Amino acid sequence: HTQASPLPHLSRKATLQRLLSTLAILEQREGKLNHSSLAAVTAAQRMGGTIHGLLAGSNVKPVADEAAKVDGLEKILYVENSDYDKGLPENWAPMLVENVKKGGYTHVFAGHSAFGKNLLPRVAALMDVQQVSDITRIDSEDTFTRPIYAGNAVLTVQSSDTPKIVTVRGTAFPSGAAEGGSASVEEGVDPKAPCPTEWVSENLAKSDRPELGTATRVVSGGRGLKSKEEFDRLIPALADALGAAVGASRAAVDSGFADNSLQVGQTGKNVAPQLYLCAGISGAIQHLAGMKDSKVIACINKDADAPIFQVADVGLVGDLFETVPELTEKLGSQ
Ligand code: FAD
Repeated sequence: HTQASPLPHLSRKATLQRLLSTLAILEQREGKLNHSSLAAVTAAQRMGGTIHGLLAGSNVKPVADEAAKVDGLEKILYVENSDYDKGLPENWAPMLVENVKKGGYTHVFAGHSAFGKNLLPRVAALMDVQQVSDITRIDSEDTFTRPIYAGNAVLTVQSSDTPKIVTVRGTAFPSGAAEGGSASVEEGVDPKAPCPTEWVSENLAKSDRPELGTATRVVSGGRGLKSKEEFDRLIPALADALGAAVGASRAAVDSGFADNSLQVGQTGKNVAPQLYLCAGISGAIQHLAGMKDSKVIACINKDADAPIFQVADVGLVGDLFETVPELTEKLGSQ
């Protein structure tokens, strides 16, 4: 009796998108938003609907004003309270729950960083819903793709929960534009929940090189380097010749050749640079899990049967103690 819509599927989709609303948790350090939370905003944009951002800590209003320019955000909620400075999940989680309830959000997105991984499962537990972790693709508003078994299988997760609490893999989505948006800025709810955990201190590894997680080039060393002295002599020099970040295998970290913060892999960092160059790394699946999405993979290994050659675009069979200094010298003289 009424005229049928010519594109019923599309109009249904449009209606659905109007009902979608995501709260994106904006992680920042010294006023700078980190890549993984901006990737979470991009993921939310791909899903559609309205997107609000949330920031908390001391002096966050100026950061909120800056975040208002991020393309795709309609509103920034900020909670001014130094209790949130250190990102302790014990007081962040109840604060987030209050803001999610007040805003009636259908989705909550955060980067799959140490902070996001620590925080969102607690939020999910408090709201009695299931957490969806480390997604690499948005299939629809309730269906997401994520790697499992160290990236050896891909799982499609469909969630019927509301809200959907989701962490987003930073290397799977671009950062999005930091300019072009004009979100409104509003104060969020602060329940001032007591925090049973006390922040004591932090030890940050400082480096002049690019940050491992977001670098466009990474040079990694493994157990084949034999000692910390050789690792320190060969790998940073090659990294500097390429303007690259330094990475390491777990065997290199466990042997004390490199700092824990440099570990790439299943239990380390996920990287997806334009170039991943590694020397003395065999290519165990747990290592591949952290770097196999790199655009170009190059390796140096003296064993032609090492599994790393199966994923490498460019491979050099040779002794790294000869080939790495040679390569560094040739790159340096260019
Ligand atoms: P090896 O496997 O010992 O390889 C050394 C390589 O160096 C060999 O291929 C050898 O041919 C080559 N080599 C030796 N000398 C030379 C030379 N002179 N010139 C050239 N090549 C040479 N590993 C990770 O890296 N990241 C992780 O996050 C991670 N998480 C894990 C989680 C779990 C639950 C488990 C069980 C394991 C995990 N591992 C991880 C460990 C992983 O299984 C491997 O043990 C590790 O990656 C091996 O490191 P490697 O390649 O440096 O050492």
